[in-house]
Amino acid sequence: MPSGVQAETKTYQIFINGQWTDSASKKTFPVYDPSTEEVIAQVPDCRSEDVNRAVTAAKAAFEDGPWATTTAQERGRVLFRLAEKVRANLPALAELECRNSGKPIVEAEFDMNDAATCFEYYGGLATKVMGYVNPVPDNAMSLSLKEPVGVAGQIIPWNYPLLMAAWKLAPAVAAGCTCVLKPAEQTPLTALELARYFADCGLPPGVVNIVTGLGETCGAPLVQHPDVNKIAFTGSAAVGKIIVQQAADTVKRVTLELGGKSPNIFFADADFEAAIDGALFGVFINQGEVCSAGSRILVQKSIYKNFIEAMTEKAKKIKLGPPLERETKMGPLVSKEQYDRVNEYLALGKKEAKLASGGSRPEKIATGYYVQPTIFYDVNNSARIAREEIFGPVAAVIPFEDERDALKIANDSPYGLAAAVWTRDIFKAMRAVRALRSGVVWVNHMQPTYVEAPWGGYKQSGFGRELGPGGIEEYLETKQVFINLNEQPIGWY
Ligand code: NAP
Ligand code: MG
Repeated sequence: MPSGVQAETKTYQIFINGQWTDSASKKTFPVYDPSTEEVIAQVPDCRSEDVNRAVTAAKAAFEDGPWATTTAQERGRVLFRLAEKVRANLPALAELECRNSGKPIVEAEFDMNDAATCFEYYGGLATKVMGYVNPVPDNAMSLSLKEPVGVAGQIIPWNYPLLMAAWKLAPAVAAGCTCVLKPAEQTPLTALELARYFADCGLPPGVVNIVTGLGETCGAPLVQHPDVNKIAFTGSAAVGKIIVQQAADTVKRVTLELGGKSPNIFFADADFEAAIDGALFGVFINQGEVCSAGSRILVQKSIYKNFIEAMTEKAKKIKLGPPLERETKMGPLVSKEQYDRVNEYLALGKKEAKLASGGSRPEKIATGYYVQPTIFYDVNNSARIAREEIFGPVAAVIPFEDERDALKIANDSPYGLAAAVWTRDIFKAMRAVRALRSGVVWVNHMQPTYVEAPWGGYKQSGFGRELGPGGIEEYLETKQVFINLNEQPIGWY
């Protein structure tokens, strides 16, 4: 546990039914700056009684409050105003995100902008939800109506704190749901700041409630609560499996965005310079704390040696440093826990494969949870560093012979979130697109993510899709309405 507590730390409250409040126990837990290891805030340690309060508020807002009769146009406008607030406060939000998560300030600014775009996108989509008429073979009219699913419990991770909150809240609000959001214990600050804008944006009390706490004591009661109709979860596969089991008792709708071990495939005919950049960017962006990190780098044998050399040379020049400095390309990992976890994988990698660069903390940085960008090569796809999600700046480079070999290795993973393929041969690219078993496939790039396009995984990377037009569907129920157009009795008896 870091020791250097700052003289003044801000104590936050949680947001329930439009009010700022303490947890029932009044207990709090510390939130850190991972680059200084100092405590920067205290947040309420919520337990089931706090979750109950939040769910009660969300249920009441869904059933009785002004939200119950709100129009799609009004919901859209609320989201547009929220987007404006995020943009107006972008520098402050980005700085807070940067301090709390350790991500470089430039990336934090991108994220804040993306969060605003997400609110705008779903603000627009709110008025495009439509039902339809079913062509039933009788003198009747059958309609399919779309309705909000009800109270949504939303649980998010620490790698993109405000952006993940936006991905969850925007479609839910657009659909007319009410929400209880639990941010990750490590990074709850920007979501709490967001709640300060709600009243000004016209969001009635109880529509979005934010509780802070730990997974087992705050997340689990939310998943088990009988008045929560849907759980949207982003996090690890291990916790995702628990969520599905816990949600089963009350037959909740569940969507899961879990981890990955995404292959980034480089054929010999790819543009070499672009490929090296793409390999590094794919795995080291956001310190490698990315669910779609291209952490398995598959390289064709004919370019393998040069590829590792070029990658290593460039990786050594990546600038690690204080996340608030604009030149910084990699900040610290988010927490001591994650730092220890990644270090265990570094030790394992040294046994399972060969080390090309990195492999430890940077010598010149004494404080903070920094890890050098690390490249292991000659990795066997059956090694643990090729199968398990590390969620840090650790690349496993794997050689392959030909196209068939590459696609076989790429698909040989319990995960299926994302994949990328680099080649100048359009036929080869399209064969790979078809063969890859993953929810996202990039060709000659890796990582661009757009709120306009669906996001989610195959296999143990989860189910359901966020973003894009389908993202709102996950917050809607379909009601089938039958209208008898005959005026006579049914005539059965
Ligand atoms: P995590 O440990 O699975 O936690 C995710 C969230 O679930 C946190 O809010 C956590 O609370 C909560 N939680 C933990 N145990 C719970 C339980 N028993 N019941 C209910 N909630 C519980 O994941 P993480 O370490 O924060 O984030 C890293 C993982 O997220 C990686 O595996 C990554 O791949 C995945 N991820 C996926 C995507 C995607 O879009 N597919 C995006 C980002 C991240 P605590 O804060 O107390 O742990
Ligand atoms: Mg956790």
